[in-house]
Amino acid sequence: MKRRSVTIGGKRFAVRVVSDVRAHLREIAPEEPHERQILAGYCDVEDGLIVVARDRSQKAMASTFLHELLHAAGLGADQERLVYRLERLLFPVLWNQGWRP
Ligand SMILES: [Zn+2]
Repeated sequence: MKRRSVTIGGKRFAVRVVSDVRAHLREIAPEEPHERQILAGYCDVEDGLIVVARDRSQKAMASTFLHELLHAAGLGADQERLVYRLERLLFPVLWNQGWRP
């Protein structure tokens, strides 16, 4: 994961790779409950932040990054199934085209 930031729809998102997403969340927002199953990554649209968990596989991280980009593009948590579907359909296309974020 080379990128430190992306701009999508005119909004800038910082991109962070962390070893433990839940520990990272506890650190930046200890007052908020984090019971959700956040393992691979998350996107905070309000704060302009995309977090991806460090993984041994570059491919897994790239897929998560695409997932979080879709959230950054405006698909909310209420559209998680659509986001997963788009990730599953689009990621192999991008990966096979040589996309290595
Ligand atoms: Zn999601």
